[in-house]
Amino acid sequence: MTSLNTATTVEVFDTTLRDGLQVEGVSASVQDKLRIAEQLDYLGVHFIEGGWPGANPKDIEFFARAKSELTLNTSTLVAFGSTRKPAGKVDDDATLRNLIEAQTSAVCIVAKASAYHVEQALQTTLDEGVAMITDSVKYLTANDRRVMVDMEHFFDGYKSNPEFSMRVLEAAIMSGATHLVLCDTNGGSLPNEVQTIVAAVKHHVGNDAIIGIHCHDDTGCAVANSLAAVHSGARHVQGTLNGLGERTGNTNLTTVIPNLQLKLGYTCLPDGHLGRLSAVSNHVAEVLNRPINPQAPYVGVSAFAHKAGLHMSAIARAKDAYEHVDPELVGNGTRFLVSEMAGKATITMKAEELGLPIDGPAVNQVIDDLKRLEHEGYHFEAADASLELLMRRATGWEQEFFKVESMRVITDESADGQFTTEATVKVWVGDDREVYTAEGNGPVNAIDKALRAALGKRFPQLSRVHLTDYKVRIIDSASATGAVTRVLIDATDGDRNWTTIGVSANIIEASWRALEESLVYGLLHMS
Ligand SMILES: [Zn+2]
Repeated sequence: MTSLNTATTVEVFDTTLRDGLQVEGVSASVQDKLRIAEQLDYLGVHFIEGGWPGANPKDIEFFARAKSELTLNTSTLVAFGSTRKPAGKVDDDATLRNLIEAQTSAVCIVAKASAYHVEQALQTTLDEGVAMITDSVKYLTANDRRVMVDMEHFFDGYKSNPEFSMRVLEAAIMSGATHLVLCDTNGGSLPNEVQTIVAAVKHHVGNDAIIGIHCHDDTGCAVANSLAAVHSGARHVQGTLNGLGERTGNTNLTTVIPNLQLKLGYTCLPDGHLGRLSAVSNHVAEVLNRPINPQAPYVGVSAFAHKAGLHMSAIARAKDAYEHVDPELVGNGTRFLVSEMAGKATITMKAEELGLPIDGPAVNQVIDDLKRLEHEGYHFEAADASLELLMRRATGWEQEFFKVESMRVITDESADGQFTTEATVKVWVGDDREVYTAEGNGPVNAIDKALRAALGKRFPQLSRVHLTDYKVRIIDSASATGAVTRVLIDATDGDRNWTTIGVSANIIEASWRALEESLVYGLLHMS
């Protein structure tokens, strides 16, 4: 494990695999969890919380498989659990036994740090609340574990009974805990409170333990609260990738890490690893099938996107005048959004971004095509891949991968009410005529399968292309013909994501156009 034990280091503790998976609508298999752990290690976080062994069979399996299937270069795997039960014994406590059996060098245990919760939720005395922490930490350190204590409800507890909350911290330190992780469990605190309370803790604790911060985003302040804690002396930040977590989520590591490194000068990741942030954020979003908010700071697809307008030519001259950091530092990039409003400066910059040699007449051609197509209902801002193909065509380029002879879709309803859909495509791939028929659960699925089957022999790499989203919108076209359908298709090959667009009064035609361009774009960029 990489040692970063300097005064300016803020440890990153990722809790995506436990807290992050509490988010509504997300579920991860053990395989998914192993893949996410690999990504976190690649990013270079200090600690990866793998889950709560004993809470469910999946987490037990995760820790069992992690031993043989997970090779971590920078991160330490941590098992999560809790203190012993009230009036129980550490020797026969199932939770503590599961923690030991997970065989991680570090463990994190949750402890009640609020007098109110000890008395009301645990229905026990404050003395017993403290004894539960003392006994459990001693037991785990005696078993050679590095012990971090997750101080549940710390901020709310401190506000009503600071003496007890401090007593809990002392008990953890005296028993050998290395980290006191202060939790804003209900997520209701604000930065000024966190700053004041962490400062008081730091004053009391000094250097006897590392102070950590664990925030939930219920006030929209999880990142701000974490920064406030660091300002007051916390040197360990817990959070999740893309801010995943129950309710409104946890501290978003993809925001707090660059803030700490780029704005405040702390070291969170090994040298040179911050540039991996956008890729890891995207990869994990993909594994969990949970798209990133396009407007997410630093890693969102719109984070450094500039729309055509007055600023465009100024941005061309001095990009840094309009961007708060260099997007490359977090592995993102500047994007110029192109629409019918685009002037020559925008098109020229977009061409440079895409590495296309486009000059005078071709620029005018692109502007003319954009105006015409956007009038018909296209929206190229949302479909970078289609825009690139349009710009290439303006230079005289034509795709040579395949030529479509015809396409037909039939949908039948049988007597028993079942719908079946079948598509036939006839395409030329070089001198070969390929005719394929496929069934699908709907017309788009059927034409996608038939087209891929027809192209698959010559272009096996297409098997890596997956359609990730299909959006249909009925729009009122500016033209007199009335409503048309706009189809957007998102696709990925695992490394690159792209979006294509099709517009037509006929939904099948609109889908077909978007689909065909999606595969052409994939072929163009895949080796
Ligand atoms: Zn939490």
